[in-house]
Amino acid sequence: MSDCIFCKIAEKKIPSKIVHEDERAVAFEDVNPQAPVHVLVISKKHVVSMADLHEADASLLGHLMLTGHKVAKQKGIAEGGYRIVVNTGANGGQSVFHLHLHVLGGRAMHWPPG
Ligand code: 5GP
Ligand code: ZN
Repeated sequence: MSDCIFCKIAEKKIPSKIVHEDERAVAFEDVNPQAPVHVLVISKKHVVSMADLHEADASLLGHLMLTGHKVAKQKGIAEGGYRIVVNTGANGGQSVFHLHLHVLGGRAMHWPPG
């Protein structure tokens, strides 16, 4: 989508610190990290949010989750534990409307989240 910031990051039209890329996903450092490790995993295909997914996207969603775990391993936080968050819609706190998983770790995470 032409005016989507994460599509532009996936297409490398906007610079980002990419930590993983494959045929369906890109993972890059969040510009405003909320933990020592804070990586965003996005699909290359533009999907607005979890609410925009269909049965046919099950494999894509699974791939994004597995990519999140791969990034956690790469960052050395998989053994100690980490959190994957997917903010969805206004009440979910979503601010960029291109589906993304936050991979957060490197410190103890709190519960309940804010
Ligand atoms: P959301 O609030 O939609 O769940 O998360 C959006 C995330 O994208 C935020 O954590 C924010 O810091 C990050 N973000 C927004 N714009 C950019 C950008 O241009 N580059 C990078 N690397 N991260 C961004
Ligand atoms: Zn997009």
